[in-house]
Amino acid sequence: MKRQRIRKLLLLISFLLFPVTLFYFSPYLIIMGGLEGIITGSFIMFAALFLISLFFGRAFCGWLCPAGGLQECCMLAVDKKVNGRKVNLIKYIIWIPWLAGIALAFITAGGVHSVNFFYMTFHGISAASLPGLITYFGIIILITLLALLLGRRGMCHSICWMAPFMVIGTKLSTALHIPSLHLKSNSSNCVNCNLCTRNCPMSLEVSSMVLGDTMSHSECILCGECADSCPKKVIKLTFKS
Ligand code: SF4
Ligand code: SF4
Repeated sequence: MKRQRIRKLLLLISFLLFPVTLFYFSPYLIIMGGLEGIITGSFIMFAALFLISLFFGRAFCGWLCPAGGLQECCMLAVDKKVNGRKVNLIKYIIWIPWLAGIALAFITAGGVHSVNFFYMTFHGISAASLPGLITYFGIIILITLLALLLGRRGMCHSICWMAPFMVIGTKLSTALHIPSLHLKSNSSNCVNCNLCTRNCPMSLEVSSMVLGDTMSHSECILCGECADSCPKKVIKLTFKS
């Protein structure tokens, strides 16, 4: 399907640009900057992801995330489903002390003193020095291992520090009835072929979601794989209610 080819191309481009963009997704540099009272590129990026999720849910993960691109490449080598809900909880256990660390860093620095979007980069490029390159390859190895050992998009499920921002944004959007991108289904046309479940890169039981008429799921990245693989066009990725 053309839409999935475009999605995979965007993910691949994003992954190839990862040596440049790495520091704008860094959970570490946001604390480093905080200790100096500096709002860094990663701070701005995480705030932007939260705001974007009010209208697009976790579509960033499905369409633009560099780590997502690498993990979908890993699926070509090992394509197994992630097992167990407990894996999804790990990221929240990591996230809460990390957020507290950011707050503490800014308190220690006496508040915000400046904004530097390109903090610690070389003319905006992240992996332009030996330490930057070592960090880059370390992260690549970690993401690859998680995807190969845990299964499809193992990092998204387990340790992604960006996902909770978007999960909270999506829930807030639903509570406030903000028009946003979401999945919609018409279960009466479903023939229970399970193709949607088989193709979901987040290992979700999509056919059960269809039959239960509950198409929202905190781990859904709105990639549209289920919609595009359904032979009966039961599922739609839409902005409409
Ligand atoms: S449920 Fe559908 S849109 Fe959501 S992650 Fe799975 S395949 Fe993608
Ligand atoms: S792919 Fe379509 S028809 Fe098959 S189980 Fe999923 S929703 Fe039903």
